[in-house]
Amino acid sequence: MFTADLVDLLVERHRVVVSVEAQCLELVGELVRRGGHEDLGYRSLVSLLCDRLGISAGVARGMIRLATALEEMPATRVALQLGVLDLPRVRLLVSAREANPILFAEHESGLVDTIEGLAMDQVGRVLGYWCQQADLDACERDAESLREQRRLFVSTVGGMVHLDGRLDPVSGQVVITALAALTDAANLDGDDHRSPAQRRADALTDLCRGHLDHGDLPTQRTERPHVVVHLSLEALEGRAGHPCELDDTGVIAPSQARLLACDARVTRVITGSGSQVLDVGRTTRVVPAAMRLALMVRDRGCVIPGCGAPRRWCDAHHIVHWADGGPTSWANLVLLCARHHTLVHEGKVRLPQRE
Ligand SMILES: [Zn+2]
Ligand SMILES: [Zn+2]
Repeated sequence: MFTADLVDLLVERHRVVVSVEAQCLELVGELVRRGGHEDLGYRSLVSLLCDRLGISAGVARGMIRLATALEEMPATRVALQLGVLDLPRVRLLVSAREANPILFAEHESGLVDTIEGLAMDQVGRVLGYWCQQADLDACERDAESLREQRRLFVSTVGGMVHLDGRLDPVSGQVVITALAALTDAANLDGDDHRSPAQRRADALTDLCRGHLDHGDLPTQRTERPHVVVHLSLEALEGRAGHPCELDDTGVIAPSQARLLACDARVTRVITGSGSQVLDVGRTTRVVPAAMRLALMVRDRGCVIPGCGAPRRWCDAHHIVHWADGGPTSWANLVLLCARHHTLVHEGKVRLPQRE
């Protein structure tokens, strides 16, 4: 089968799904009208639908809400039956109607004609402006309620950090803009095989690192916030060893601990035998501020060709790791972005030869 035929078949089948969904809503509407659940001894129509269709109460309520609204929306109903509008667009119309049902009744057929064939985001825009005109106060209240619903959860589960949240449109746009700037495909080199989702994850990490490294975050108990890696001499040498961990996320691989310990912007607590602390923090093997500045001037940014990552987000990488006797000197340091720093430590990317 040709791909085009495959897609044609999909479009046709999808049309059937939409038309069947429209028929289901008609039937639910009829059940609402005649109080059908009582005839069959159910407490409510929701429990009837849950029981007989095997759907959740939320989905059942959504169907009833749509079916009930459609009773008062003749033009929308016809468009749905003809397959001119699909359910997502009808849901937006139903929400718009809730802003001002009387005005909606006047404008309904015009709105249906306008949004027919428009992409979803454009439909949202058209109906958003209509709602503003229909009831500005309600729009202001809705905006406030969206803002109240903002959330962010950060939890450590099974060695991964899970982020889960929702942002109001204004905050969300700020985040989208910042992430888009850091994930712009035009700035990627040809060897970048990260997925878009991986690039977004890296971009968020880069943004946070930038703030940690620049010390512009508020202090906690009079200390500047900083990432602390706890590692043993064995871990520092790349072998299995205890401890080898971070404060909140727990045990990490020795290679990761070595990578973190390479640059001085992460505080290290190195433990020898008998839990004796051998080295804390930035007192030794620190890249001094003046040397870092000189590196920034010399390397301008990540030294991997084609990378172009800005220097303020680069690590000072020890070409020979200080744990292996490499000096913290001008000749033994290069700037690498976080991604290339990781790849170099993993041996997947080689440093360019110096002249
Ligand atoms: Zn390094
Ligand atoms: Zn780089």
